[in-house]
This record gives sequence, structure tokens and C-alpha cells, in this order.
Amino acid sequence: MDNGSTLESRLKEMRDRIASACSRAGRGAESVRLIAVTKNHSADTVQRLIDLGVTDIGENRVQEIESKAPYLKGDYTLHMIGHLQTNKAQKVWPHVGWIQSIDRERLIERLDSIYPGGPKMQVLVEVNTSGEESKSGCDPKTCETLCELVTKSKSLELKGLMTIGPLNGDERAVKSAFQRLRKLSEKCCSWIDAPELSMGMSGDFEWAIEQGSTMVRIGTALVGER
Ligand SMILES: *Cc1c(COP(=O)(O)O)cnc(C)c1O
Repeated sequence: MDNGSTLESRLKEMRDRIASACSRAGRGAESVRLIAVTKNHSADTVQRLIDLGVTDIGENRVQEIESKAPYLKGDYTLHMIGHLQTNKAQKVWPHVGWIQSIDRERLIERLDSIYPGGPKMQVLVEVNTSGEESKSGCDPKTCETLCELVTKSKSLELKGLMTIGPLNGDERAVKSAFQRLRKLSEKCCSWIDAPELSMGMSGDFEWAIEQGSTMVRIGTALVGER
């Protein structure tokens, strides 16, 4: 999909759907941030989104971030949303403002060890709320420990939690995973003022907003399959 007007209308439709879901939940539309997930799409498509006013871009591979970032101009923030190998931490650092996939102690240590100074990295601890084997994210039992380690680190600032809902789950299963993240956040993040809940993708963002999401990560519904 590379027709500019299609992209524009999909973006408008997505903003409308987010606003409606917020309104049904009794929330203001500005309480949910749209992260446009552009993995497998060209830097050109990313740039068009930025030109259309999208300020937050999600990518899940360091290599793609490195290859696209030099071509992007304007007012935007890149979010690393995929599994981050410790040996790639240094490569991704200069390009992103957020890392949403903090899922283990070793990664926190690594990020501290490569910290170049300057602004701290904004991070979310990613939790596996569905229990699906293949899913990334920490065990809910270790979430609190990881949050504490982030708050003690010198390079990272804890902003909240992230999860991927069960991919083939029914409505009840998906909503209960999102609810689980919200409850964990009350336990692990409320004392430090880290209120972000990054949950919801193309297929389930409306349920996520109902459950308190503050960041939805939308790929397919915005930029199409690729
Ligand atoms: C690809 C991806 C998304 C977007 O998924 P869509 O279903 O295409 O909207 C969101 N979050 C993560 C972590 C992803 O890897």
C-alpha cells in the first residue's frame, strides 16, 4: 500500500476509532497515544506518516531502525517494541526515545553499561500476560523486581508496562490479559508515577482502551500487510 491518500484516510479512520473507544470508556481522546508500527515498511511510508502528523513510530528490529532512521525528518519519536538482544543495545540507543521491551535483568545492566550520559531512556517493562510460550515479555511474577531495577538504574526512566494480548484469544481472554497488566501496574508502578500502559494492536486496541490502555501500537490497520 503506497497510495498517500489511502494512508491519510486510514490514519483519520484510526484516530476516529480511537476517539470513539475513548468516549465509550469515558476517557478523553488525548489520553491514548497512537504508536504507528511500521515494521517491514519503507522509510518513505514512515516519513509520510510523520508528515501527516504522527509523532510516535514503533519498530521491532534494530537493523530496520538503523536503516530507516537516517532518512527520517521532522518531529517524531522512535519506540523499540521488539525483543532487544543485549549486544544490539548500543546500536539502538542513539535512534530511539523509548524502549518498550525491557524484559530481563541482563538487558537493564547492559543498557546501564553503555549509557552515554544525557537524557535517560524512557522504558516500559514488557510482561507476558497471556502465558503463551512463544510470547515475549517477563513472567508477571518478576515484573515488580524488574521495575525496581529500572528505577535504580542510572540510564533508564520507568514509564509503565507493555504487553501483547493473546493473539488468537477470544474477547474474554484478551480483556483479561489487559486487565492483568493494569492490576500489575497498580502494584508495580503507581508508587513511582509510571502510568503508561502500552497495550492494544490492530485487532484488539478497542478492548485495550476499555481496559485502560494509554498507548496503542497499530501496524496492519494503518499501513496494511507487508
Ligand atoms: C507488529 C507489532 C504490533 C502491531 O501489530 P498489528 O496487528 O499489525 O497492528 C504491535 N506490537 C508489537 C510488539 C508488534 O511487534
